[in-house]
Amino acid sequence: MVDIPDNPDILVIGAGAAGLAAARRLAQVHASFAVIEARARPGGRAWTAVVGGYPLDLGCGWLHSAQTNPLADEAARKKFEIDRSLPPWRKDADARGFPMKDQRDYRRAWARLHARMEDAAKARVDRPARDLLEPGNRWNPMLDAGSTYVNGVELEKLSVIDFGRYEDSGVNWRVPAGLGALVAALGEGLPLACNCAATRIDHSGKRLRVDTTQGGFTARAVIVAIPTNLIAGEALRFSPSLPDKLQAASRLPLGLADKLFLAIDDARGLPVDGRLYGAKDRAAMGSYHLRPFGRPLIEGYFGGAFARGLEAGGARAFADYAIDDIAGVLGNDMRKHLSLVTCSSWARDPFALGSYSHALPGYSDERATLAKPVEERIFFAGEAASKHDFSTAHGAWRTGVAAAEAALERGLPGPP
Ligand SMILES: Cc1cc2nc3c(=O)[nH]c(=O)nc-3n(C[C@H](O)[C@H](O)[C@H](O)COP(=O)(O)OP(=O)(O)OC[C@H]3O[C@@H](n4cnc5c(N)ncnc54)[C@H](O)[C@@H]3O)c2cc1C
Repeated sequence: MVDIPDNPDILVIGAGAAGLAAARRLAQVHASFAVIEARARPGGRAWTAVVGGYPLDLGCGWLHSAQTNPLADEAARKKFEIDRSLPPWRKDADARGFPMKDQRDYRRAWARLHARMEDAAKARVDRPARDLLEPGNRWNPMLDAGSTYVNGVELEKLSVIDFGRYEDSGVNWRVPAGLGALVAALGEGLPLACNCAATRIDHSGKRLRVDTTQGGFTARAVIVAIPTNLIAGEALRFSPSLPDKLQAASRLPLGLADKLFLAIDDARGLPVDGRLYGAKDRAAMGSYHLRPFGRPLIEGYFGGAFARGLEAGGARAFADYAIDDIAGVLGNDMRKHLSLVTCSSWARDPFALGSYSHALPGYSDERATLAKPVEERIFFAGEAASKHDFSTAHGAWRTGVAAAEAALERGLPGPP
């Protein structure tokens, strides 16, 4: 355990993008603070694993809304290279098995669904996004699959108002060395204790008392920056309990998205940053990014209930599924050229229990409830607390900065 103060003014719980952003803001003004993190590493759902010689983002990989993304500025400051090439989902997919005419038809169906969702959101009529599908449209299953990639969940469980609040400039960049590696690097030099999970926050006394797996801390304020599924499941308990927070967190559950990386033993004529769909007629389908950064790899993306089932089957079965999928489109000969590199399993990750948050239909205002401080001394950060950038690393980052500023403004000591 790193030597951190037992009694800081502010204790930050969770060293993901949100917690690290809060910590960096506190460090800027020389506040007394410490960060505790349950895992052996900082970064949380921002995680770059170096496997087979490649830095692979098993969590976030894209700097969405890149021109205004604070992590793009941090990347520049930290001298991480940024790749600005067009993402595969902005290009045509592989025409084998998905003719261009059908792709255009599908894209129009996607645009129409989005327009209806935006209209419903503007009218403030909340309902499951599935209600806005065109009855009988042949692309409905694939639109559902699209929702599992973007939201981690099928349209049935997605609030249209919440979805409508998401802001996206449409510009997406990448970090070849890994977005997770960047976020972890932003934790360097901070007073951070890893392998230290908070289990209880007692706010009955004058000072807050935080129980952890490494002993107790007291603090004047805490910033809680852990995923909603852990708050809802009371992995971290509040004493006295905070029913509004528990309810808000349970209405903002983490959906699921998983990645699987396959190696190709030669490029096989596949385009750099190409895209391939495993199917077109069902929600349970993989989407494949061919040769990211020109590497001899295929990055599969799987979402929602489908990903949950694949995860449960284990890495080998997950890879077999993906190889079957790809061989189904590119031909059986591909099989012998593909092998498993690694895959994620975010639903089974005990410190995430999912990938990114969505609001259940009818509960679009719960993000504000989650974000609201308690007694001016328990502050909440994390992607789920963001009104317009939820589900992203930059959204998490911004909530961390905001929580730190709120903690400093509300009477806590600022600069010495
Ligand atoms: C597969 C996948 C793909 C994604 N793609 C993108 C993308 O391309 N672009 C993008 O912007 N975003 C993407 N995201 C989302 C992005 O990764 C997250 O929104 C963001 O990283 C969340 O940051 P956070 O700080 O809110 O939470 P987390 O990163 O989950 O951080 C919370 C931290 O709290 C710790 N913790 C949990 N419980 C405790 C406890 N009791 N005590 C102490 N510590 C605790 C956790 O270990 C974790 O480190 C993706 C996510 C996944 C999973």
